[in-house]
Amino acid sequence: MRQVDSGAFSVSGSVAPGYDIQRDWGGSSLFRAARARRQLAETVAAGKTTLDDLVTVFRDHAGYPHAICRHLNERLPVFERFETVCSVLLDLDARRFGIAEGPPCQHTYTWLELDPS
Ligand SMILES: [Zn+2]
Repeated sequence: MRQVDSGAFSVSGSVAPGYDIQRDWGGSSLFRAARARRQLAETVAAGKTTLDDLVTVFRDHAGYPHAICRHLNERLPVFERFETVCSVLLDLDARRFGIAEGPPCQHTYTWLELDPS
């Protein structure tokens, strides 16, 4: 997890700053995290990042097939193929949890209340 700017974070497959655990598997989590930061920089700076902005980032295909919204690369051996199997959003203001059950470009987010009452 890396802090993007005041109040915003991006998360990718890399958990140790400077060490990209995905690099050898054909895609760079550092590239995806940097791409997400660039895409959100303007709205974060303005304090106006919306859920739609986040969904747009999660559906991004720059670097396809190793994009933020990742899809299988049929040219790779079976054990080296990866795809996004779910995408999660937390809306803490509205106290709800959204999940897309597959690549978010192909699935809509289903929202669950975190504090049903
Ligand atoms: Zn996609």
